[in-house]
Amino acid sequence: MKPKIRIFITLAIIVTLLCCLLFSGCGCDHEWETATCTTPATCKKCGKTEGGLGEHSIKNGVCLNCGKNFIDFFAIYENCGCSDIWAEVGEDYLSVDTNPHDFSDSTLSLLWAEDALAAIKEINSKLGLPSYLYQEMVSTRAIDGRQTYAGSGVNVSWRFHPDSGLEVRYTK
Ligand SMILES: [Zn+2]
Ligand SMILES: [Zn+2]
Repeated sequence: MKPKIRIFITLAIIVTLLCCLLFSGCGCDHEWETATCTTPATCKKCGKTEGGLGEHSIKNGVCLNCGKNFIDFFAIYENCGCSDIWAEVGEDYLSVDTNPHDFSDSTLSLLWAEDALAAIKEINSKLGLPSYLYQEMVSTRAIDGRQTYAGSGVNVSWRFHPDSGLEVRYTK
């Protein structure tokens, strides 16, 4: 090999290596922080971001990160065996009434009580509400008036009267 060609090849190799160094972004040895629903994967050192947003971290129907409410009352209504006789559902509420027609007759007043109470128990658990809440609901007296409880992403209110039954309302 002629010396000129050898020099040319050596130069070419050096130039190629320099280009690699300049354009491959070797400046930061990135340390990626996992993407969340509000921020893409971000380098802890230089702040560079990569890719799109991550998944929501949903617990009991609410994202722990961005607070978005994913509670689906329609799905809960279906899954907890609700009936349109004693339950009502909308985009932002679900209510259950153990004595929907407000019968004062003791036999009639209990017609749907068993089904409705079972559904209330189920709904409470689906919404991640504490298990003692059901006990509080069924031991509410008329003189207690309307009771409330604030869960994660859901507010609960209920009242009891012997003539109108236990009425529980869940709202977002
Ligand atoms: Zn970096
Ligand atoms: Zn989120």
